[in-house]
Amino acid sequence: MPIPPSLNTPRRLLMGPGPSEVPDSVLRALAQPTLGHLDPAFVEVMNQVQGMLRTVWGTRNDATFALSATGSSGMEACLTNLLEPGDRALIGVNGVFGSRMVEVAERAGAEVTRVDQTWGKPLDPSAFRLAAKGRRHKVVAMVHAETSTGVRNDLGPIRAVANEYGALFVADCVTSLGGMPVDLDASGVDAAYSASQKCLSAPSGTAPISLSERALAVMAKRTTPIRSWYLDLNLLRNYWGGERKYHHTAPSNLFYALHEALRLSLEEGLSNRYKRHQRNGLALCAGLTAMGLQLPVATNVRLPQLTLVAVPEGVDASAVLADLRDIYGIEIGGGLGPFAGKAWRIGLMGGASQRAHVIRLLAALHSTLLRHGYSPPDHGVAAAEGVYDA
Ligand SMILES: *Cc1c(COP(=O)(O)O)cnc(C)c1O
Repeated sequence: MPIPPSLNTPRRLLMGPGPSEVPDSVLRALAQPTLGHLDPAFVEVMNQVQGMLRTVWGTRNDATFALSATGSSGMEACLTNLLEPGDRALIGVNGVFGSRMVEVAERAGAEVTRVDQTWGKPLDPSAFRLAAKGRRHKVVAMVHAETSTGVRNDLGPIRAVANEYGALFVADCVTSLGGMPVDLDASGVDAAYSASQKCLSAPSGTAPISLSERALAVMAKRTTPIRSWYLDLNLLRNYWGGERKYHHTAPSNLFYALHEALRLSLEEGLSNRYKRHQRNGLALCAGLTAMGLQLPVATNVRLPQLTLVAVPEGVDASAVLADLRDIYGIEIGGGLGPFAGKAWRIGLMGGASQRAHVIRLLAALHSTLLRHGYSPPDHGVAAAEGVYDA
């Protein structure tokens, strides 16, 4: 095979379900000199990452750090460290990521009770209560921001069910962290994980994670070994603190990127950041609605950082995705599960959540829809601008 030329990757505007737009300063951080995973200068980076993560998570949990892998590793770490074979787990499922939690918990040997909800609707606490009745569950788990549908599942009501049954409460905060309030301690979450490439807007490859003292105490009482060596949180805690013992070769450059992404979030101010996500989400929805498009998720549970848009009758969903990418350089996502081929997913996560991007997408989508057999009654741009001008 001839040697290929150096990479020259195309620039895309990343407005899908992740990865999201990576700010230039994060890309620059990524290009800082590589350090060894035990170098004191890198240990200082790790300490700062931990400190900033505690603020972004809203926690005092000592066990707060990031895994050297993607968001799914956080899911796998939380569930395999807390669950032993034969333990019961109650897991909410209203999309892809709830189903993934079930699969991971089952592979950890747990007996899982699923609490299903129609995709596109929020989890129902009373269904959890009904499913929990009469049986002891060690873990109650749910997805905070279901990226496959754009639904927000509130933490409080499900946490209350976990409390009633004395169970640990595990939350997937992959798409919520950095884009909407999570407040782990105030929300009473015992174990949570996220990912670098959604609302934090770093490249993928690191997964923030945090565990309460209560969760650590449950782990300490395990009678069987944790089935994953790489994701054994006791070993990882010994690398991130304590003895600073070699566990794996941490990808230092990815941690520089996470460091800069966290720094940017704090510099912006978390509440400003949530407001920005809220406003751009509203503007996008106003524009889409003006274009006559249906948004299947109810307004009161819609995520500002991810919008599900129904594909109009007769329009080829994947042809629109391809045009947006190839003509306009914009990536959005397709539908999943019952929404496959029937909906698009537009992400306004972190760096992607900008007025200029919203307007560019609406204009591009308008032209694309016209070419593919749907004539929007309106351009959508003015409706979106109306939200900003209000
Ligand atoms: C993206 C995502 C994941 C999986 O993260 P990866 O980084 O793709 O492994 C898990 N849960 C939710 C809610 C997600 O959006």
